[in-house]
Amino acid sequence: MRFNTKAIHAGQKLEETTGAVMPPIFQTSTYAQEAPNVHQGYDYARVGNPTRTALENMIAGLEGADECACFASGVAAMDGLLKMFRPGDHIIASNDLYGGSYRLFTQVFEPFGIKFSFIDMTDLNLVKEAFTDHTKMLWIETPTNPLLRVVDIKALSDIAHDAGALAIVDNTFASPYLQRPLELGADAVLHSATKYLAGHSDVIHGAVASSNEKIMENLRFQIKSGGAVPGPMDCYLVLRGIKTLAVRVERAVSNAKKVAEYLDNHPKVGMVHYPGLSSHPQHELAKKQMDDFGAMVSFSLKDDSMDAANKFMSNTHYFTLAESLGGVESLISHPASMTHGSIPKEVREKAGLKDSLIRLSVGIEDADDLIADLEQAF
Ligand SMILES: *Cc1c(COP(=O)(O)O)cnc(C)c1O
Repeated sequence: MRFNTKAIHAGQKLEETTGAVMPPIFQTSTYAQEAPNVHQGYDYARVGNPTRTALENMIAGLEGADECACFASGVAAMDGLLKMFRPGDHIIASNDLYGGSYRLFTQVFEPFGIKFSFIDMTDLNLVKEAFTDHTKMLWIETPTNPLLRVVDIKALSDIAHDAGALAIVDNTFASPYLQRPLELGADAVLHSATKYLAGHSDVIHGAVASSNEKIMENLRFQIKSGGAVPGPMDCYLVLRGIKTLAVRVERAVSNAKKVAEYLDNHPKVGMVHYPGLSSHPQHELAKKQMDDFGAMVSFSLKDDSMDAANKFMSNTHYFTLAESLGGVESLISHPASMTHGSIPKEVREKAGLKDSLIRLSVGIEDADDLIADLEQAF
């Protein structure tokens, strides 16, 4: 089955009693049992729900994984994953990553004794040097947020495995339509399904897909014990969104390429960050590792001040000023004060995140309308 077909059919079956084409929203907390410990695969809905199962089978199919576990949000999925580590364990993470991931690592897990190093993963030597005897995992985000750097999943997975560590990829920005990390050697893939997978800015949801039994067993245990599970309605919405993932992302990428080229030629723009531009430092790697370049674009202004960025952002009409990304509508945001506000200024600047940096999540509107909107905002 090729990807476009998978997005409709992977792991799906008709509902047995009625033949419903879409799985029903099984709005139930518990299931009748014939006898203690004798049931039809479900006993209590924290542990499992058929609507959730349909979605898990779909995401596993898209990522080429044996299994998938769904959570109430992307950060809940990360939280579940990280609980397989123990005090003293060391994790190497990208230094250009989702602000909420940074907060979870440094403010929740570090106080419990797990250690983190934040490294520029575009430099493989820096990653190798960061390993200690206790390193258990590489946390890879690519393309990175918000600077759209591209890091080498295959090379990093090999480095992790040589050291007996796991390589886990946050695939939220690319979506499985553009990038499938497990095929490149990663051990697990995480999604904030809130973004491209659901795609309509109407649900918060997270997922991890993997064929590694130890990881999946831990996640099942965390779901049962910690209980950060999504409701059946949310699972239904994500599954519904995935059915159009391929066509949505295809259009969004086509728009993003035009927007990036327009910005790249604009006299008021400082630097454009988009892996599809031939000037992008990892353009060749992006070509190799991704099927296309994604629909996230960020850029700084020649006037590198918060004021200039604020003024620009308050002038756009189709680009709505909002956090989040990956929906059908275009969004604009200011990482330094919004998504990455929880990262200290020194750390931010060291990673190259400028005050005037503006991030666009390019939607599926008409490209010419989007460009006209940006033009009048300048
Ligand atoms: C949004 C996001 C998350 C967190 O997901 P939520 O669904 O908001 O909890 C994690 N990683 C990346 C790259 C994200 O963009």
